[in-house]
Amino acid sequence: MIVVLTGAPGAGKGTQADLISEKLGFKKISTGDALRRQIQIGSEIGKKAQGFMSEGRLVPDDVLLGILKSELDSAGSQPVLLDGYPRNLAQAQALQEIVGQGRIKAAIHLDVDYSLLTNRITGRRTCPSCGASFHVVNSRPRVEGVCDKCGGNLVQRPDDEEQKVTTRLQVYENDTRPILDFYRGHGLYHRVDGNGPTSQVFQDLSKLLHNLGA
Ligand SMILES: [Zn+2]
Repeated sequence: MIVVLTGAPGAGKGTQADLISEKLGFKKISTGDALRRQIQIGSEIGKKAQGFMSEGRLVPDDVLLGILKSELDSAGSQPVLLDGYPRNLAQAQALQEIVGQGRIKAAIHLDVDYSLLTNRITGRRTCPSCGASFHVVNSRPRVEGVCDKCGGNLVQRPDDEEQKVTTRLQVYENDTRPILDFYRGHGLYHRVDGNGPTSQVFQDLSKLLHNLGA
């Protein structure tokens, strides 16, 4: 079975996807991870993607889809959680085509209020050395501006600055939000309230996945 996890930037998809994979045995697939893995194992499609990237170009949709298909095929009977894909209607339709009817069991919308999304994203600080992530209010490092794990200096990613966040949320509204109606039309849409603390949201997600037969 395949479950699509979708939501606006800052909704907590990545965190919840990690928990679902860790505690519920799902294979988590994000396009970024999938790309890296296919390139690492040197598959044909991975080499193709690498060609585009080394020229500084975006990996085209059909190549990305091929990458995803390889990852889905290698999951076998393990349940799969798609994290952050599809991002638009065309991708949702293409995905439906390559996996066939019935294999996508649900599309779960992690629904978070807009005011909260902005605070979550603009308060995020990350460590360039080890990738650890903190938040100036919700998840403060022991020493301000310093990574708990490796002592590196924390930075705000340019993508997380306030002006950029407004743009990212607009892109989400225009491009990604329409997939919710697509999945509604296929009877696959589920909503989980993502406003609460991580543990509460995970509990709600677990319950839903359990009811879906995971
Ligand atoms: Zn660090």
